[in-house]
Amino acid sequence: MASFTFVCVECGTAYAEADVRYQCPTCAALQEPGGVTRGVLRVELAELPHRWPSARVHDPGSLVVFLPIASPVSLPPCRVGDTPMLPVPALRRELGMPHLWLKDETRNLSGSSKDRASLLVVAKALEYGHGTIATASTGNAAAALAAVAAAASVRAVVFVPAAAPPAKLVHMATCGARVVPVAGSYDDAFELCLAACERFGWYNRSTAFNPFTIEGKKTAAIEIAANLKPEQPDVVFVPTGDGVLIAGIAKGFDDLARGGLLHRAPRLIAVQPEGSAAIARALRDDAPAVTPVAGAASVADSLVVNAPRNAILALKEVRASGGTGVVVSDDAILDAQGRLARTTGVFAEPAAAAALAGLLAAVAEGLVSRDDRAVLLVTGTGLKDIPAAARHVRIPAAVPPDLDAVERLLQMP
Ligand SMILES: *Cc1c(COP(=O)(O)O)cnc(C)c1O
Ligand SMILES: [Zn+2]
Repeated sequence: MASFTFVCVECGTAYAEADVRYQCPTCAALQEPGGVTRGVLRVELAELPHRWPSARVHDPGSLVVFLPIASPVSLPPCRVGDTPMLPVPALRRELGMPHLWLKDETRNLSGSSKDRASLLVVAKALEYGHGTIATASTGNAAAALAAVAAAASVRAVVFVPAAAPPAKLVHMATCGARVVPVAGSYDDAFELCLAACERFGWYNRSTAFNPFTIEGKKTAAIEIAANLKPEQPDVVFVPTGDGVLIAGIAKGFDDLARGGLLHRAPRLIAVQPEGSAAIARALRDDAPAVTPVAGAASVADSLVVNAPRNAILALKEVRASGGTGVVVSDDAILDAQGRLARTTGVFAEPAAAAALAGLLAAVAEGLVSRDDRAVLLVTGTGLKDIPAAARHVRIPAAVPPDLDAVERLLQMP
């Protein structure tokens, strides 16, 4: 519960909350349709907590002192955050990494990290008096908005590529969102949502465009630090698409550092699939800006974006952390999905399993040491995309209810 200003991540101008809503007006004038978002605003709290939130530290309900809202009453009544931090002993043994942790974000309300952003955005929409909130999404942001909006009794309109995993579409529709499947890419859906919000006066949750998406995701970093204290992580692996999650993670560690609660923020590693790797490639090439991908594609649908909307801030934050990008193949992602499930029981969607694929690649490249305290941010549940996982498992043909048939089945490889 704190007063705050918005600061433009490009020109550094500070704005009062009442004066801007989405982008820095000066830098927004440079916005190209379909390009990275210009003039992204970073929330700067007037005062930062100098003490760890006491009771139920992992619950955003008590992390409220870190949130730019007028009152805790604004937070929708639903279960977001406070996700498990798992020590994963079997995976530690397999990888020879004794200090590996898994932050299980599949346990959020709608099954992904996107709930953290939606929680704060819906809270702000309620404070601003908006009855309808819209978003563009590859799938999870829309499901998250649908679920959190349902809990808060506000209307959600979601723009999603028609090719999104069917379970995600069913999920958001079941939560009562008005679903607009777009015959086109996520980037097309983004532009359409923007235009619709202008025409119909809806509050736009679209990622990075709405500054509270970045701010909302910071609670994951605050929880990671709280979960591990007094130790701190050396490195965090973050599956990356638009670059909002990783910038939010950086913001959370930064807020803790500014309050004197954290002395050394971890390196952040942006993990992206080969077919959608604009941010990771720019990081590796030391490029000043991203080169958008034409026709991005990957089994990790949640990471597929041509022009990553939060590229400018993501590059800045990852570099400031001393981290970098890692690019992984779809095969490596699907292998990691199986390995993660077999060693931890956590069934992650491909985008989320990319965190483990990224760790394996980073160890092989010597970017991290096996002694590092590493955290995998496992960002979304595999239950929303069964066909992707089904590519790597075989379900045997049905046996008659007969013990000999069971024995024959068990003898098969
Ligand atoms: C959205 C998403 C990400 C990446 O977040 P960005 O802000 O787009 O970088 C990672 N994993 C999952 C499961 C997601 O839904
Ligand atoms: Zn600006």
